[in-house]
Amino acid sequence: MTLRHVGDQGPSRTAIIGATLTDGSPVDVVVEGELVVAVGRGAGAQVEERLDAAGGLLLPAYVDTHIHLDKVLIRDHLAEHDGTLQGAIDSIHAAKRTYTVDDVRRRARAVIESSVLTGTTRLRSHVDVDTVGALVPLEGVIAAATDCAGIAEVQVIAFPQEGILRDPGAAELMALAMENGASVVGGMPHWETTVEEQRTHVKICFDLAQRFDADVDMHVDETDDGSVRTLAMVVDETLRRGWQGRVTVGHVCALSAADDAYADEVIAGCAQAGITVVSNPVTNLVIQGRGDRGLVRRGTTRVADLLAAGVGVAFGQDCVQDGFYPYGRGDMLEVALVSAHAAHLTTLREQHQALAAVTTVPAAAWHLGWRYGVAAEARADLQLYAASSWPEVLRLQDPPRQVWFRGRTVARTTVTRELLR
Ligand SMILES: [Zn+2]
Repeated sequence: MTLRHVGDQGPSRTAIIGATLTDGSPVDVVVEGELVVAVGRGAGAQVEERLDAAGGLLLPAYVDTHIHLDKVLIRDHLAEHDGTLQGAIDSIHAAKRTYTVDDVRRRARAVIESSVLTGTTRLRSHVDVDTVGALVPLEGVIAAATDCAGIAEVQVIAFPQEGILRDPGAAELMALAMENGASVVGGMPHWETTVEEQRTHVKICFDLAQRFDADVDMHVDETDDGSVRTLAMVVDETLRRGWQGRVTVGHVCALSAADDAYADEVIAGCAQAGITVVSNPVTNLVIQGRGDRGLVRRGTTRVADLLAAGVGVAFGQDCVQDGFYPYGRGDMLEVALVSAHAAHLTTLREQHQALAAVTTVPAAAWHLGWRYGVAAEARADLQLYAASSWPEVLRLQDPPRQVWFRGRTVARTTVTRELLR
């Protein structure tokens, strides 16, 4: 596997010959500078620099819209715990106190690179902002993002992992984080101790969002307790502040445990408020349901109900070898497959919904300001597979042959297999 860095410039005009789109149509795709300039049969005939796609599927590069780059690759240094959310948060405290900017930077960079190799060129990272680690995690992740600016774009969310009211000083640190490189306001209202404090937490986050004219992306109701309902507070606040289309909520596990009447009402509210829901089944399958015996809950939100209501549903990696989750490598193809299992996505249409959850849905939530996809005038963030259809790519789990970021090749992978009888 090779990862090419800035300065290794490719030709300005390249044709990808004989690729297959997700609808099965065979096309050439011409990339010039940062942009796709032509898509169609024979479109690359006159272009000198050519890549033979051999019928492989050409996709837009993945968008991982929920990851915690400050915490990645710390698992080996943590004490074992009971596997719950509380256990994970507590186990990370000691590590977080000893983080250095260089240490965070090195770990975050490793996972950005591993993400690029597996087809992701855009990552939105929650970064802990609290009185335990102050702004060290933020500085480290921003340094890693700068190191990797030639191969990927990283957005940073100021995330109050320890709560806001529970962690006096966190609100001020969040404002400081927004002044120093974070561009999205995070939150975790269900972590507060009373319903009133949960409501205040949500208000503080939206105050910050208004002050910095920023989008909001909160951890919401990551618990099996169906009586926890901060999602409704986020919907109310989104509508009250006119923040429609600018709010994302992550996890939302409690929605599966809540009664149908509440679920129907709050899901309709999400649709009305243009809220995007990020489900993170890879982590929640191992974190939630810990107290169940026998029939163990999956911990995944109501994906089918949300899709039926027209709510955008994305899937995120969330964690890579941290206190919450011991696996992961920033591979959104793996995330899509695990999430498809957790959310019962099996029909052809549902398999394509799993693809949308790691491509078009998170891209829309980002408000990229340019066209995303395999289409003329789109930014050339692309990836090419050996298999020719999305169901085959999803099933086989081979990495992309080649990945482009802003028109430039940034990763290539060759897989060789031999069967010896
Ligand atoms: Zn998370």
